[in-house]
Amino acid sequence: MGNSKYLDGLSSEEYKALTKKLWEIQNHRCFICGEEIDLELNSTNIDHIKPIVTGGKDDETNFALTHENCNKSKQDADLEVAKAMAKLSKIIKAAEEKHETPSLKHVLAANDGSKYDFIYKIEDGKLLYAFSKNGDDTIRSTDIFMDRLSNEQTAFIQVPLQYLYHDEMINPRGINSSIGLLIKEFHKGNPQLHISLARIDDNKIKIFDGQHKAVAQIMLGTKALLVRVFINTDVDRMIETNTTAGSKLKQIAFDKSIVRQLHDTLYTERIKKYQADHGLSEDNFTFSEANLVEHFKGERGNIRTYIINSQKNLITKNPTNKLQSYINFEGRGSELPLSYSTFEKTLLSRFINPKTILTKPIDYRADEGLNPRVLEKEQLVQLCNILAEELLIGKYNTEIGTYRIENKIIDGKDKDITDNHLAAYRIFKEEIMYNWVQYIDRLIKNFFSLTGELYDENNLFQIKFPEQLWTNIRSFVRNLGNLPLWKDRSMASTVFGGKQVYDYWQTAFRTGKTPDGTIVLSKPINVVEMIKP
Ligand SMILES: [Zn+2]
Repeated sequence: MGNSKYLDGLSSEEYKALTKKLWEIQNHRCFICGEEIDLELNSTNIDHIKPIVTGGKDDETNFALTHENCNKSKQDADLEVAKAMAKLSKIIKAAEEKHETPSLKHVLAANDGSKYDFIYKIEDGKLLYAFSKNGDDTIRSTDIFMDRLSNEQTAFIQVPLQYLYHDEMINPRGINSSIGLLIKEFHKGNPQLHISLARIDDNKIKIFDGQHKAVAQIMLGTKALLVRVFINTDVDRMIETNTTAGSKLKQIAFDKSIVRQLHDTLYTERIKKYQADHGLSEDNFTFSEANLVEHFKGERGNIRTYIINSQKNLITKNPTNKLQSYINFEGRGSELPLSYSTFEKTLLSRFINPKTILTKPIDYRADEGLNPRVLEKEQLVQLCNILAEELLIGKYNTEIGTYRIENKIIDGKDKDITDNHLAAYRIFKEEIMYNWVQYIDRLIKNFFSLTGELYDENNLFQIKFPEQLWTNIRSFVRNLGNLPLWKDRSMASTVFGGKQVYDYWQTAFRTGKTPDGTIVLSKPINVVEMIKP
């Protein structure tokens, strides 16, 4: 609550009366959270809707009644903004409880959106349409513009939420914390500079760009959005354009993992196109990756990238991958131990060779469970699961997270940090993980050298690992986790104090000493020793 001369001047009787009056006006509900207020059971506050400092009046027209708790934890001083953010938090929470990534889809669903098909026709270069299902039979007409270079046809139309959908195919991203700033911006009355983009697909208007701006406006009560709609567009081209904008051209800040996911979609689309071009049925996979690269000659480089990134995505986002819940996919959050970028640099890029394009049919030996890409995917997921089971599950605490861990130890504020949590945090630091993953690589190669089985050292995970090899890997990971240095708090200000270069840990693992001479291991790491149970 801000300073209010008006409220300070009220007697306690008058204050009570005002509380009652606002309570009636607000239908017995809290201004921020919208839930019921029981005046006998709940503590309440009267607060300015628009803060005095931003020009709000100090009188009854600018007061609202809230739960005291809601007021204390409000996300903005302006109560209209705080209300919008509280509503959004609820939607996000509900989506997360269903283990879904919160996105425009959830916001639309919670705001009476995504209900109806878009009914339209094209006559004389105009788009004619009506929103009849909304009870509005007005026939609207708008020009269709054609872009001469791409031949794309678009129109600009105002669409009620009931007719809007989120395009999960082209834009699988979720929403992030930038929404708060956008809500404030729109609440100030500033206009949207770049309008959202959508396409008509299966008679639905699907927004694929500008979802954050759309969400912010919907949260502030907007019932219809102005969008640029692409008519009869080629989805394949649109995914590619949008992906390139987000990766190579950096027009949109796409996270690496999202680019991987989009490349996965593009790869699937290329396979369908190949099948169509060759008159093959959709379940016919008798052609190879090399055939695909050959067929789409003009974009060889792209197809190779799609194949590799598709594989990375299938592993990372695999529903059975237990490491997934420990990977931070967006931005620089401090709850999870492993950033996607670290995961890709240290593990995926080590074991998935970007140069490999297979010449055997895509379904080669799939019936016997010996298909190289499937094995690579499944076995890398299995490796991820071993890492999660041995080093993270039940050990790493997301509530403590990674923020200033070593500093807390130095400051003696580390009571809640368990040894297991500390170990997990340290083991998954990029420069450390990069080095121990190499030992896994080494132990797999050693194993095959000893058994005499032929293996392809550039595509290790493409042949089936025997049970014994899995046992060895698990023992190695477990023994790695049990090394005393990860739990040694006296190293917080030295060895673990800052970010070291990769070589620093390579030296430490090879010699037991860091380059500056600190002893961190009783002896160098030896793979043969470390695979003993
Ligand atoms: Zn409330």
